[in-house]
Amino acid sequence: EKRRLDEREELHGIMDLAVGFYREALERSEEGGTARRYLEGRGVDRATAEAYCLGFAPDRWDFLARHLQHRSVPLELAEKLGLVRRRDGGGFYDTFRNRLLFTITDIHGRAIGFGGRVLDDSLPKYINSPESPIYHKSEVLFGVSLAKGAMRETASAIVVEGYFDHLALYQAGVRNVVATCGTALTEGHIKLLKRYAGNVYTLFDADSAGRKATLRAMDLCLDAGFPAHVVELTAGEDPDSFIRKEGAETFSARLAKARPVVDYFFRQLVRDEDTGTVEGKVKVIDEMAPRLARVSNAIERELYVREISRVLGVDVRSLARKIGGSSSPAA
Ligand code: ATP
Ligand code: MN
Ligand code: MN
Ligand code: MN
Repeated sequence: EKRRLDEREELHGIMDLAVGFYREALERSEEGGTARRYLEGRGVDRATAEAYCLGFAPDRWDFLARHLQHRSVPLELAEKLGLVRRRDGGGFYDTFRNRLLFTITDIHGRAIGFGGRVLDDSLPKYINSPESPIYHKSEVLFGVSLAKGAMRETASAIVVEGYFDHLALYQAGVRNVVATCGTALTEGHIKLLKRYAGNVYTLFDADSAGRKATLRAMDLCLDAGFPAHVVELTAGEDPDSFIRKEGAETFSARLAKARPVVDYFFRQLVRDEDTGTVEGKVKVIDEMAPRLARVSNAIERELYVREISRVLGVDVRSLARKIGGSSSPAA
């Protein structure tokens, strides 16, 4: 047990070293110029870069490996963090090359991993650190250490998909934000958010992946009894692009129009199904009933039941009966 603790401390130390080297490369090195210009082009200022510990991994195979070696760091440990990989012929090479780096931290702000973006259109656009003894993806949300104070103050959390979405909101003065960064929202994430907030807003990309992620997240929140709202953006936009196009005020107006979870589900269904037909109505009711059953506030549930039965033209009592019979969580 003691050995494991020591190793974790050592891994944290290596992460801190890596952050330092990558920060330096971004802020001061000549080869960091492209990354500095890239950030400028995306409207990210110096202060934000510092707050987020942004870094740059130069276009070399051994930038980090050499630096670590000079500090007598065992590269086997850096390998455990996914910072370097083993070469076939022996030795190690850097995982992150020619990428802008986002430092992923734990709740206390300690570095535990990186997300790296290319500076052009090449693929893959992002690569992320793998799981490690100090990085458990299902429990970590990007930006949580910067957001926790604001989440407490506002009693709410905004969840976005991407690193740049997080930065854009931060620069617009919205601070109660965390990002999922390519992983689906998990129960562990919800538990984490519940420690700080009483309410969550999802603000995912307005594309099909974002819509899917939204529906999933809403079901998770319903299961967890966590009040949730959905913020919808103009098709094709994400929070970063939206704020840059429409400005922070229009963005705030969108936030204010967030839809409660049941409302969101119902609208999606009515949009996708033909509620002019019996079949369509049945489909909508089948989808809505288990979700209504999970609304814990009885008054709220009753009001939704009334509204939905009115819109679909079905008897309130038969909808209420259906919900009574499906009060166990949906499959
Ligand atoms: P950008 O604005 O820089 O183009 P984005 O954040 O809008 O990036 P999306 O494609 O919307 O990019 O993806 C959302 C998030 O999902 C990213 O910020 C990143 O964390 C994660 N992600 C995207 N593509 C990958 C990938 N190929 N591998 C791992 N994670 C990825
Ligand atoms: Mn997207
Ligand atoms: Mn996006
Ligand atoms: Mn984007």
